[in-house]
Amino acid sequence: MENLEVIKFGGTSLSNSALLKSAVSIVSQKRKQAKIAVIVSAMGGVTDQLLQLLEMAKINDSKWIKKLQDLKERHVNTALEIISGDRNKSLFRVFDSIFAELELNLRYISKHQEMSSAQKDLVLSTGERLSCHLFAALLQENNIPAQSFESQHLIRTDNQYGNAKVDFKVTTQLVKGVLFPVNGNIPVITGYIGSTENGEITTLGRSGSDYTAGIIGKILGARKVEIWTDVNGVFTTDPNSIPTALPIPNLHYSEMAEMAHFGANVLHPSTVLPLEQLNIPIVIKNTFDPAAQGTLVNSEKDTETGLLRSVSIKNDLALIGLKSYGLEKIRSLLTRALTVLHEKNVNVYFNASAYSNLGFSLAVSGSQAAVARKQLVSEFSEELELKLLEPPVVSSDISMITVIGNRLYQDNGLTGKILAVLADNRIVPMAYAKEVENRRFTFILPTLKAVPAIRLINDHFCISSKRVRLFIAGVGTIGGALLNQLDSLENDSVEYNIIGACDSKKMIWNNHGLAPGDIKNQLADGDPTDWSFIVDKLTSEFSYRTIFVDATGKSVVAGKYKKLLECGVHIATPSKIANTSDQEYFDTLQDLTKSRKVYFKYETTVGAGLPVIQTIKDLCESGDKIEKIIGSVSGTMTYLFGELEKGQSFSESIIKARELGYAEPDPRDDLSGEDVARKFLTLARTIGHRLERRDVKVESLVPDALSNVSRDDFIKMIKDYDELWHDRVEQAKDENKVLRYIGRFEDGQVSIDVQAVPVDSPIGSLKGTDNLLAIYTGRYHNYPLIIQGPGAGREVTAGGLLSDIQKIGNNLIY
Ligand code: ADP
Ligand code: ASP
Ligand code: MG
Repeated sequence: MENLEVIKFGGTSLSNSALLKSAVSIVSQKRKQAKIAVIVSAMGGVTDQLLQLLEMAKINDSKWIKKLQDLKERHVNTALEIISGDRNKSLFRVFDSIFAELELNLRYISKHQEMSSAQKDLVLSTGERLSCHLFAALLQENNIPAQSFESQHLIRTDNQYGNAKVDFKVTTQLVKGVLFPVNGNIPVITGYIGSTENGEITTLGRSGSDYTAGIIGKILGARKVEIWTDVNGVFTTDPNSIPTALPIPNLHYSEMAEMAHFGANVLHPSTVLPLEQLNIPIVIKNTFDPAAQGTLVNSEKDTETGLLRSVSIKNDLALIGLKSYGLEKIRSLLTRALTVLHEKNVNVYFNASAYSNLGFSLAVSGSQAAVARKQLVSEFSEELELKLLEPPVVSSDISMITVIGNRLYQDNGLTGKILAVLADNRIVPMAYAKEVENRRFTFILPTLKAVPAIRLINDHFCISSKRVRLFIAGVGTIGGALLNQLDSLENDSVEYNIIGACDSKKMIWNNHGLAPGDIKNQLADGDPTDWSFIVDKLTSEFSYRTIFVDATGKSVVAGKYKKLLECGVHIATPSKIANTSDQEYFDTLQDLTKSRKVYFKYETTVGAGLPVIQTIKDLCESGDKIEKIIGSVSGTMTYLFGELEKGQSFSESIIKARELGYAEPDPRDDLSGEDVARKFLTLARTIGHRLERRDVKVESLVPDALSNVSRDDFIKMIKDYDELWHDRVEQAKDENKVLRYIGRFEDGQVSIDVQAVPVDSPIGSLKGTDNLLAIYTGRYHNYPLIIQGPGAGREVTAGGLLSDIQKIGNNLIY
């Protein structure tokens, strides 16, 4: 039927009256554009509850009676909330008869304390039968003509209860015979169930309602099948366990089938083939967010965003290992094992062996592990007796992870990269295999490691090969300028995704990225900033390919670096605090950068945007020996002495420096020399010398008498020292010299003081807030390597910080 669309609602979309109403409004919109057939699952959780009832009845645990009552009440109460009197009466008559039959079956099972697989399927079919009558009544209640159909009358299967195979020939006749004459009414059909030739109810396997939609869609020649569920389509991996997963807008049928087969339970794997055969598109949509794009599955191949398409997981498996000493004495070891397991209906999900007569590993469902082992022991009893084989070893709580993507085909070391990323995080698969076409790579590992492994693979290879996440702490002078620079960044090889930001009061988050230009405004509506929460969230949810940008200058934040680096979060910062607290903390952070392969960049802590730290590191790494560094690294001090030379008084120069933003609000923070001491301490430690802050000798420009007075008193009282500074400047002038605040690193020692230097020397001729560093090394022995330029300022510092971020980013992408 050309203009027919099949719409399937999953249990998650039918869990309560509010959701049922959303489903009705979806149908009512759709029927304006197309003829509709609806497939329904049981209300959310009902099939699981029926399974529990069966288990209880089987051991004659009488609590099933109360549970059955609850189940009935749930259906009745939901109906009462949304369907009116008369219509309910006839609906409840149907409910009564279904529940009476269900109770009868459970009583029988309870009495005999056993159940056949046919009885089990009969009970499990109840959920869909109830929901199809409920939903049809609800459509009628909303003036949409509808008719319910129990699909045991439509879908013919074999008698493999629990996982029945569909007989398409008979089913086609039945469906066409029954559904074509339904004129004007919307058929509401149970998913999941069929029946045998003898009319016994079967089920199509868990999540089988999707498959029903596929079968009905094919037979009726639908133009589209829509699967309505609780997520925005198919994601790179399960978004409910990996929050960084991204929706995939387009998938080819084969990719969808592979993903589903290997564990993406958003769609039953068998759904795809019947629809692919007729080129009927499948759309996966979110009932909770109908406007979201969802995923379109059809025959078009889309280009991949990441290196890989997706990563799926299957849990609850066991790995059975069999080791043989037999070599030529044992023939067909694997064939015999697979045959005997097949005979006992044990499904083998995975096997790996290089030379199978020497042994192999097989993954089977955890619930079948004991049976499988028993069968293997009996099949190989003779060999075991002769000690040609070791008894099978079963490892339980095993997961199977499969990565899918066309790029695996060319590979170019991609498989190696995947294994390396896992190994860097101490995850080593127990077995792995690539499929024939080389588009899939499957590996086995303990379930405990599965979520971290999936997250790593998703973040590194699936979401985007170019995406790197940022958290921006501090959006003041530097952080604010950084956001502007990020906003105007074009054609970068890295795609920066700001997942969160904060100032000292508020924080905001968005997994899929905040626009840099909006962050400052959005912060007003954020949640209170909580540093422990931020670090916990980053390290637990975003611990890979994330850069924490610390533009706060707060000790509490610097104290968190250890945990961030330990957990794989990279850091870029202009804050000097972490590197200049205890030498031990410095060492710990540096050690982590090596052992955890994380980046900690702090170029802007010395000379702002000037390339100081990197130059020193490059020199050291290339085998040069740094003998001495002499420099003026305080823009504030250079400015101050420049003013004194022009004849300004010491106190006026300080006030002016403060007004121009060159000095801190409390000028003593600059005048004390603390800033310069910390810069030189950072340099010395970066070179590899071990020293504490107390080992740095600093001449403070703050007179002892004024070190403890209030900030305002300081500004008033500093006038008393104008004359002293005037004299010092004049004295230097007489010798054709000027004063400079100079740091010196030599022989592992650091000292900082005011010195008179010749007017025409490089440091003497510094202007404004410029910095200068003269680096003497084994190679630059007679004439130092000089780095000079503006050593402070919002734009240059933010630019340096951005450059650090880019250096890290470029190393993280593939
Ligand atoms: P329904 O009741 O609608 O049939 P299911 O629970 O069967 O819903 O399927 C939807 C669930 O599938 C999602 O909530 C999600 O947790 C899970 N899922 C697993 N893998 C994926 C994936 N790759 N993309 C989207 N969802 C997935
Ligand atoms: N109700 C069944 C299940 O929970 C079938 C389905 O929902 O697709 O497995
Ligand atoms: Mg489902």
